[in-house]
Order: sequence, then C-alpha cells, then structure tokens
Amino acid sequence: MPSSLDEVLTHELRRLDAAGLRRELKPWRGPQGPWIELAGQRLSSFSSNNYLGLAGHPALGRAAATMLDEAGVGAAASRLIAGNHTVHQALEEDLARFHRAPAALLFNSGFQANVGVIPALVGQGDLILSDQLNHASLIDGCRLSRAHVQVYDHADPDRVQALLANHRRAHRHCLIATESVFSMDGDRAPLCELAHLAREHRAWLLVDEAHAVGTLGPDGRGLCAELDLQPDILIGTLGKAFGSFGAYVAGSSPLRSFLLHRARSFVFTTALPPAVAAASRAALAIAAGPDGHLLRRDLLAHIDRFRTGLLALDLLAPGAGSTPIFPIWVGDDNQSLTISRQLLDAGIHAQAIRPPTVPRGTARLRFALIATHKPHQLDHALDQLAHLRHTGYLGPAKTS
Ligand code: PMP
Repeated sequence: MPSSLDEVLTHELRRLDAAGLRRELKPWRGPQGPWIELAGQRLSSFSSNNYLGLAGHPALGRAAATMLDEAGVGAAASRLIAGNHTVHQALEEDLARFHRAPAALLFNSGFQANVGVIPALVGQGDLILSDQLNHASLIDGCRLSRAHVQVYDHADPDRVQALLANHRRAHRHCLIATESVFSMDGDRAPLCELAHLAREHRAWLLVDEAHAVGTLGPDGRGLCAELDLQPDILIGTLGKAFGSFGAYVAGSSPLRSFLLHRARSFVFTTALPPAVAAASRAALAIAAGPDGHLLRRDLLAHIDRFRTGLLALDLLAPGAGSTPIFPIWVGDDNQSLTISRQLLDAGIHAQAIRPPTVPRGTARLRFALIATHKPHQLDHALDQLAHLRHTGYLGPAKTS
C-alpha cells in the first residue's frame, strides 16, 4: 500500500494514464490566433475561446504597454486596500454601459467571479437550481455557498418548474444558475423560460455569459441582450471573446455595492494588473464598435460553413451549431485522444475534452471557431473530419 505523498500521487497518475485521462501542458509560443505554434508545430487553432481573434490584436497590446509604462505591473493589493485605480473604475463603467446595466464589478477571472458571487448571495436555508452541465466554477460556487443545491437536467425548464414547485417554499431565497452558451456543448440555455420561472417563483436568475459576450447579441452584448432579458446577475469574462483577462458581474447598484463587501474572491485578492484592465477597455471598444460588427459577421459566416460541413458528415446533431463551439462526439476517452493526435498530425489543434470537464462517457473534440480563421482552415478541418468519419474513427453525432 503506497503511503508517502509522492507514492500515492504516482499511483493515481498511473490510473489516470491507463484510463486515458492523463493531461499534459504543451509548450506554446507566439500569439494566440487562428494559427498557433504548439510544441514547435504550426497548427490551425481550434482549441481556444478567442472567438473574435482579439487575444493577439495589436490595439490590446498597445493599450497594455502604455498603461504598463504609467502604472507598472502589479496592483499591489486588493482595490479596497491599495486604492481604486482609475482604469479599473473606467473599465467597470464601460462594462455597465455596454450591458445597459446600472453597475459592474470586476473580478480577476470568471472562476473567481462564480466562486465569489454565489456564496455572497445565498447560503444555508436558501435553494440553488443549477444546470447539470454548468461549468466547474458555478458548481464550486454552489458548493461553497452551503445552500441546498438541486441540479436539474440540462436546459430543461420543466425540471426547473417541478423543482421549484417541490422545494421553493421551504427556502428563504432561491437562485437559478445557468450558462447562456454552454462551454463544452455550444448550445443555448432556455433563458426566456428560466426568466419567466424565476419571476413566477420569486427566484433570482444568474446567467454566466462567458461564451456569449462578444460573440452573440446586438453589439456582442450576449444572449440575454439578444433576448432582451435583464438577469439579476450577469457574469461575463474578459479572457475569451475579449481576448484579455479577468471577468465581471453586471447588475444593479446594490448588487455591486454588496458584492464589494461580501464576495470573498473580490475582497481578499490582489486586483487585476492595470495594464490588463487597459487591454480589456481596448478590446471592449473594438468589440462594441464597427470592427466588432465585421468580426461577428465573419464569425457567423464561419459558423454557417462549419455547421453545413458537419451536418453533411452526420457529425452534428440537427439544430446544433448556432454558436462558435462545435462538439464532435467520440464517447471513449482514449479514442478521443487518438483522434486528437491524428488531427495534430494533419496540422489541426482540436483538444480532446474528457471527464471531469464533461460527464463520463461523453468525451469529445471541441472545435471553437475564430472570426479571423480563413475559410480554407475550416475546409481543411472538415476534410480531415470527413476522413476520420469514413475510416470509422468517428461515429455519427450524439448529444451528451
Ligand atoms: N464560466 C464558464 C461558463 C466558463 O466556461 C469558464 C472558463 N472556461 C469560466 C466561467 C471561467 O472563466 P475564466 O477563464 O475567466 O476563469
């Protein structure tokens, strides 16, 4: 029986290896874009959340460099302790204006936002209804809150209604937590139905728009804006379509003021470097302006092209493919690794996504499109997927 820490860990790592669940960090150089240099190989990148291609945009770099000269690197402490830099304040005002919300509060990442916001708002004696496929940070936020958590079947408002009917009355507050676009499936939450149920049952609606801001809705304001909804709590990230780093909550002024006191991942952490906030401001200006409009137009054209190609190969469930995220079903963990390696050999980086990122038995390849991809990159990927489909490596589409 192994007993030292390293013996125990080595044993566990061997088990992960045997199960096809070992992960590795591959060396990457240069900017993130439609092409990347990974482990010395130049590859078409389909494994980022850089949907608008802004991560390597020179305007973000210039904004960061200017602020770096002015403010140095570190924020030195939390904003409550070291001082509230004007760029943090200005970015929050930009974000509030962007979302037509009264206020916004920055967090250091989407993960930190979710694990800070949920426990600040609900606790023992409260109820949370959480989508089965919610991101790990939402799950951890729910766990940390110590509220009573009921996980509902993915994107199923009937289940939400049944749970509300059974459990709502016995609890003080109730929070419904969902992503708007699901990170590993690329599908959309039934936000109108959830908003209606929340109103009917006096529940609060938290929508994590991590994969929708920048890409969907008018001016890229997300799926809530597309549906003309104002959730009680909107979470957005700056590290995905906006190509920078950090995250935010947009909502009412009391929400911002309360979180500033009670969200532990805001209060007890060093603020984002001012240079990063400056880059985010530059990204937001692009995304909400005419260039953002053109980028979203190109992204939409790519989505149509890729969806049509995948449907022809029976690699996409009918009705799927309305966002830049395309899951290609594999099922088996080891098989997903084999296919991902074959794609690497063909110059394509499409990461195998395995548990615990997705439920057991639902391993997949996740193709994420970038506005600045060239059509021939998509066609090459479709050719390779056609080859894998015809040689039997890939089966027909399934949903998780
Ligand atoms: N929410 C969702 C839905 C996500 O997919 C992610 C990241 N994959 C996060 C939150 C965390 O965001 P960040 O990367 O900024 O920590």
